[in-house]
Amino acid sequence: MNVHDKYKPLTFWERTYLPRVWDGLVLTMRHFFCNLWHFLLASLGIPRAWKGAVTYQYPEVRRPLWPRLRTLHRLTKRDDGTPRCVACMMCETVCPAKCIYIVAGERPEKQIEKYPVQFDIDLGKCVFCGYCVEACPEDAIRMDTGILEFSAYGRNGMLLTKEMLLSFEPKKGHYVARPDLETAPTAAPKLAEA
Ligand code: SF4
Ligand code: SF4
Repeated sequence: MNVHDKYKPLTFWERTYLPRVWDGLVLTMRHFFCNLWHFLLASLGIPRAWKGAVTYQYPEVRRPLWPRLRTLHRLTKRDDGTPRCVACMMCETVCPAKCIYIVAGERPEKQIEKYPVQFDIDLGKCVFCGYCVEACPEDAIRMDTGILEFSAYGRNGMLLTKEMLLSFEPKKGHYVARPDLETAPTAAPKLAEA
């Protein structure tokens, strides 16, 4: 049985797509005239129950970002400036797009065995799922730079190197203030003993 057999055949008007095109035009025009009406009332100083649609004058005015929004990656650093990353390969393994490339090197210290000699992220493949951040046991990779605009003339230009990832800083100012998220989490309630 063909997968399309379970759908009833399209009518003549459905095959022309004209009714749906008309519906789309009506919806667009309704938004347009509603907003025009609201802005006319606002410019005359007449109070109204609703606000018109807000248009940001991008790129001069940036829309505030939601705190949980995933933006460009960065690698976090220790106090001595070295990367927190211990080259455990968890992020590389979990990445569904296979766009993280790590080459591990040995460190002389016993407490920290490895460090990333090379740590590249191919943004041309990245789907911004955030799994790398979730998987990292060292909090060494974050997606809180607030950077959303990046482009390149070629595929090679979409490669983020370790040095670039370490140079990025968190951009809290770009995000919507959420004091409730900034405060320390309350202790989880204890489970009743069985
Ligand atoms: S955000 Fe997702 S796709 Fe991008 S590097 Fe991390 S795990 Fe891979
Ligand atoms: S960023 Fe985190 S998960 Fe990825 S290799 Fe480094 S320590 Fe491991």
